[in-house]
Amino acid sequence: MKSNQPVCVTGASGFIAAHIVKELLERGYRVRGTVRKNPQNYPFLLALPGAAERLELVEANLLTEGSYDKIVEGCDFVLHTASPYTMNVKNPQTDLVDPAVNGTETILESCLKSGSVKRVIFTSSIAAITDEPDSKKVFTEKDWNTMSSLERNPYHYSKTLAELAAWDFIMKKKPSFDLVVINPFMVIGPSIGPSLNTSNQILRDIMMGVYPVIMDLNWGFVDVRDVATAHILAMETDTASGRYLCSAEAMHMRELVALLKSAGFDGYALPKIDLSGKAGSVLMKMLSFTQPRDTGMYIRTTIGRTMHYDNSKIRRELHLSFMDVKKSIIETVNDMVKWGHLPPQKR
Ligand code: NAP
Repeated sequence: MKSNQPVCVTGASGFIAAHIVKELLERGYRVRGTVRKNPQNYPFLLALPGAAERLELVEANLLTEGSYDKIVEGCDFVLHTASPYTMNVKNPQTDLVDPAVNGTETILESCLKSGSVKRVIFTSSIAAITDEPDSKKVFTEKDWNTMSSLERNPYHYSKTLAELAAWDFIMKKKPSFDLVVINPFMVIGPSIGPSLNTSNQILRDIMMGVYPVIMDLNWGFVDVRDVATAHILAMETDTASGRYLCSAEAMHMRELVALLKSAGFDGYALPKIDLSGKAGSVLMKMLSFTQPRDTGMYIRTTIGRTMHYDNSKIRRELHLSFMDVKKSIIETVNDMVKWGHLPPQKR
């Protein structure tokens, strides 16, 4: 399905989307990216190779109905990545759920009106698959998060409702375009723009002593460049369909800290005490009440549980091969130092 029409990428300024824009330009596509402010505020996008000739940036907001109508007109493909990705918000309904859900519906309505769109690729999340790890289960694309709410892991809730709204739209309106969904886990890697992404921030916090002890937590990591490629493969592969769980290896906090130490980052305030046993987890759950509300909730619902998942569908159907996450963790740390998000290590 190679297209000469511009590919629309919503939220082009975002961590993941900037890599999608970069790779689309590298592959020779014309790109129409949406941003929230004046396009001149995004020099890191305008300076990408090929941008001068083939990147157009246009302003749009998920909360403004109809604001994507003209933008998706004439496009064959829309890659909808824009959605608030932040853990601690004042009002989960207005800060997370409304932009995620109403924004998705607004964009799909615009695609319907366009008559040109053939496929929408939607960036969902592991958060729409499960609210919490379950040590006894291997998660797949068949699983849905049924536990999150405005009070319990509201970011997870916003992603679940947004993805459900997208599938519901397809079922009810039967548009002439199809929907393919990418569900990444914890996305890390070098950043094209100057902002520090929420997932990279977790790595930074571990290095800066925000978590003073090793807890019984584990995460599935995936490099941002693999996530970008996954979106483009979902667009280019005619037979792509449904959801794609997108995550390389899962790693325990203990292994992560050991990796950072062995890579020579031991000059940072890495946690030294290991409290990842059962008694430690009970203590950590109690102490989680001293954290900001949503971080505390995340710790309580995740600690002491091991995440297992099956990423074979994306490898088999989209032929995605994942980068080594250990390499990508080291690159992320070096990149955070480059951008000034982490001070250079004291020796
Ligand atoms: P990000 O860097 O924070 O990007 C989010 C993008 O959404 C930004 O471009 C942001 O614009 C835009 N946005 C937020 N609210 C908006 C609104 N009201 N109107 C228009 N645009 C709005 O985060 P990211 O990690 O790249 O996330 C991209 C997508 O991947 C999100 O859907 C997120 O849920 C999903 N995801 C991320 C991860 C991860 O670990 N990073 C994992 C799974 C899924 P501004 O630049 O103006 O703020």
